[in-house]
Amino acid sequence: MRVLILGGTTESRVLAAALDTVQGIETITSLAGRVAEPILPVGQTRIGGFGGSDALAVWLRDNSIDVVVDATHPFASTIGAHAEQATRASSVALLVLTRPPWTPGEGDRWTSVASLPDASSAIPPGSRVFLTTGRQGVHHFASVAHSWFLVRAIDAPTGPEPPHMTLHLSRGPFDVDHESMMLADNRIDLLITKNSGGDMTRAKLAAARAASIPVIVVDRPARTGSAPMVFDVAAAVDWLTNRLRAGL
Ligand code: NAP
Repeated sequence: MRVLILGGTTESRVLAAALDTVQGIETITSLAGRVAEPILPVGQTRIGGFGGSDALAVWLRDNSIDVVVDATHPFASTIGAHAEQATRASSVALLVLTRPPWTPGEGDRWTSVASLPDASSAIPPGSRVFLTTGRQGVHHFASVAHSWFLVRAIDAPTGPEPPHMTLHLSRGPFDVDHESMMLADNRIDLLITKNSGGDMTRAKLAAARAASIPVIVVDRPARTGSAPMVFDVAAAVDWLTNRLRAGL
């Protein structure tokens, strides 16, 4: 069984490593090429866009792919939609592996918004913002001159930036002590995050709760399509191995 893993997430790397030990399954992980020095998964890798959903369908056929696992980030909605269209067009099976979203607990002071522009509009003037939504969305905050931003990202943003901003380049995971220190050392009074889910970047929410700091949480884009969905790597491995055993 030849499996294309649409990657760019920790889960996609863990899945590739898990499938590497399964006889009868071969994986190719695809990365968009956004990160300058990506952590490469085991198994084969390809890097760069396919050129749209039709081109992806052709690629699936040319590479004799039996199953696509969309293990991309929950906010990577374009490639998710392309995976739906291309697998439908080429009669290839599709499985979605995603992280369950975070939900607020006692003591959390969350405001949910639908988009990064909405998050930008919701910032009270004079805020000291810890912005953890990734380098690609920083331009949505470029017109916010009334607040100061600590932007954390793996690589530097390339587009317009807010006028009062400090860049902190680093790659998770981060623990709660580290995140509490980030908040305290930078006198942060507002955290902005996407609802990415998962454990890798959850600690900032616990740190914000402990310090009673409000959080603007950007909701996930709605997912279209009817592909089966699993919420952890073990379930994805089960789904694939069951399919392999059934000879599908
Ligand atoms: P996106 O908006 O959904 O996709 C934009 C285009 O990038 C797609 O149309 C596709 O180009 C290409 N692409 C995206 N993921 C790809 C993959 N895994 N392999 C090959 N091409 C891919 O994606 P995005 O939000 O920019 O995310 C890009 C990558 O970063 C994804 O792999 C995602 O898992 C990872 N990531 C995203 C976020 C986030 O917050 N969005 C956070 C962490 C990691 P073509 O149309 O040319 O095929």
